[in-house]
Amino acid sequence: MAHRVTFIPGDGIGPEVAWAARRCLDATGLSFQWDERLAGESAIRQFKTPLPEETLASVRENRLAIKGPVTTPIGTGFRSVNVALRKELNLFACVRPCRTYAGVRSPFQRVDLVLVRENTEDLYAGIEFAAGDAHTKQLIAQFTEWTKQPIQPDAAISIKPISATATERIVRYAFEYALAHGRKKVTAVHKANIMKFTDGLFLETARRIAKDYEGRMAFEDRLVDATCMQLVLRPQDFDVLVLPNLYGDILSDLCAGLIGGLGIAPGANIGDGIALFEAVHGSAPKYQGLNKVNPTAMILSGVLLLEHIGEREAAKRLDSAVAAVLREGTRVTYDLKAERNDPTAVGTKEMADAVIEKMKTVKVRVA
Ligand code: NAD
Repeated sequence: MAHRVTFIPGDGIGPEVAWAARRCLDATGLSFQWDERLAGESAIRQFKTPLPEETLASVRENRLAIKGPVTTPIGTGFRSVNVALRKELNLFACVRPCRTYAGVRSPFQRVDLVLVRENTEDLYAGIEFAAGDAHTKQLIAQFTEWTKQPIQPDAAISIKPISATATERIVRYAFEYALAHGRKKVTAVHKANIMKFTDGLFLETARRIAKDYEGRMAFEDRLVDATCMQLVLRPQDFDVLVLPNLYGDILSDLCAGLIGGLGIAPGANIGDGIALFEAVHGSAPKYQGLNKVNPTAMILSGVLLLEHIGEREAAKRLDSAVAAVLREGTRVTYDLKAERNDPTAVGTKEMADAVIEKMKTVKVRVA
């Protein structure tokens, strides 16, 4: 039976990389029924909103989606289409594996870690008050009365909600993921020494949940600033990291840097029974329509989709084909060449063609 998948090309470089991934998934020989839907600038043109209800309805029905990046529109009232999608579909876990591939230039070797980022709360929840607004003034007056700590009258304010409910859900998810993927350790990342109530609750909850996994999975916690330094010094010390939303966002890019850049960092957004796969990178508008950017992050997001639906052989085959193309380093995009203006660099479509060709010859064994 065909796998029904909502296909959201996105905008900017989105359609180029999303189609590269879709072609690779089709080339696995599995049967997919693609339900193409709009989000972002293309949706605004047709539906007057960057996130049409019919796109959400399609993902809710198919429970499986792959999405190209989407530009955050300015002045539509939407803080971010991506954040709205995750909220609307309650995609509470953002899973971002970071692994070094031979042939990709990076000062780091043997990096193989997974970030599990909480997707619904924290400063990313979008509860903000603009400087000078009446509500902001009221809040400043109220906070000053409660805390006796002065806040500058011209300050803007963001609220950082962290709940035991959402933390328990994400930490459990991280442990279950670690067990299911043969991982050895979960690290909770926080700043509980300073943010005693919000990050303190995150840490306290993580420690409580970790007890349920004692003897089955190692657990540690680390401060976010120290984690940044340790990731750069000894990335091999990390396995699965579980983080609140904002630290997860920042460390995702840091970890993408460890493995050679945004062009090869895939991701998944997971909710109860719904999964949406997308690259870590954004819509890079300046490269739109140039057939230039690296499709690897989106193709590897496709590998995550295959693993998610239990198609392990196809996942391994596509991953091995990508690895082989990267290792050979000939039919790859400009960002993977030693010199960025190397005339032998190929385009987005041609790199996907190379992966598709390679899939016909790679041999894989699934235990
Ligand atoms: P970006 O990730 O789009 O691009 C930053 C830079 O990274 C690019 O200029 C390019 O040099 C490099 N890069 C990104 N993807 C690449 C690829 N596939 N191959 C080679 N190089 C690549 O980040 P940005 O410029 O900060 O954001 C652009 C827009 O994308 C914004 O509107 C932002 O809100 C949005 N965004 C969307 C998502 C998403 O859809 N999930 C994620 C992040 C950012």
